[in-house]
Amino acid sequence: MRRSSPRITGKNRRNRPYITEMRPQDILMPVAAGLCCKPGGFHIDPVRPVERAVITHGHSDHARPGHGAVLATQETLDMMRLRYGDNFAGSTQAIAYGEQIKLGDVTIKFHPAGHVLGSAQIAVSCKDTCIVASGDYKDAPDPTCAPFEVVPCDVFITEATFGLPVFRHGDAADEIKKLLASVTLFPERAHLVGAYSLGKAQRVIALLRAAGYDAPIYLHGAMEKLTRYYESRGVALGDLRLVKGMKKADLAGTITLAPPSATSDIWTRRFPDPVTAFASGWMRVRARARQRGVELPLVISDHADWDGLTATIDATGAGEVWVTHGQEDALVHWCTAKGLAARPLDLVGYGDEDEGDAVPLGEDTEA
Ligand SMILES: [Zn+2]
Repeated sequence: MRRSSPRITGKNRRNRPYITEMRPQDILMPVAAGLCCKPGGFHIDPVRPVERAVITHGHSDHARPGHGAVLATQETLDMMRLRYGDNFAGSTQAIAYGEQIKLGDVTIKFHPAGHVLGSAQIAVSCKDTCIVASGDYKDAPDPTCAPFEVVPCDVFITEATFGLPVFRHGDAADEIKKLLASVTLFPERAHLVGAYSLGKAQRVIALLRAAGYDAPIYLHGAMEKLTRYYESRGVALGDLRLVKGMKKADLAGTITLAPPSATSDIWTRRFPDPVTAFASGWMRVRARARQRGVELPLVISDHADWDGLTATIDATGAGEVWVTHGQEDALVHWCTAKGLAARPLDLVGYGDEDEGDAVPLGEDTEA
């Protein structure tokens, strides 16, 4: 599996050697619109409108509206429909994990990425070369989505959101214990947890339930649609209620999930003396928590940490690694030191939603 250059495995009729594998960069190439697969005639997670898009997951920096045809898991397609409306693409096609589809001269197969519900790694095979574009992924357990699957490949394309050795996320269950301890300690205060609307919010709720918390959990209106969607796909989240219409005094001792930006605006005035928490991998960085005025930082990330990234690269057996969106340099250096071919991809336009600071349009306004 560890190879990065084409193998010459025979001779053609004119007695010249021919190449049975394509070079990886002939299969997938970074262009302005995203990762382009020329022999397959599609782009992966394009940031500009394209004719045919293959999409890894529903976060707005990866799943954008306006493409001709979109191929993705049913969940990703549904999330795009919920966010962008019925006409988000010219046509759509759902693909299941483990399912294989031929597109042009390549074969693609989807595998779970463990990032959010419906998230997928996309294995692109052409002749004997297999490239896995993993999108965003994590190898940590998450009760709200299928677990990450290691896919053996020749070239592994990895994200690097937390690609520095200082990033070690720890156990999310321990962070939930911190939150519950605070709720017990301050029964007269409301707890307001900032969490991204797609994935993180539902994971935090599921983790609270797994820790035995069975009281109602309150939601900012902007989280309702996606959270109800998770429930409709069989993710049990217990008693959920909207904050809207609640009396201030009745929110004492309760937990509310809200988009991160809502936790620092006028909306918080409806809560009695709120404790502001924020669930993000970035909460490992104290300055970030301080900057946001977060009283209770919770290190809960939907991205692999340094150990997760390096263990995954190892496990794929890939001889070549392409590193994108995040802290590329350290990871490229780590790969090179291990004797792997590695390079940053310099793709632009990713990292804007889940662990980034922006909130997609329409999800930051109260409903
Ligand atoms: Zn994501």
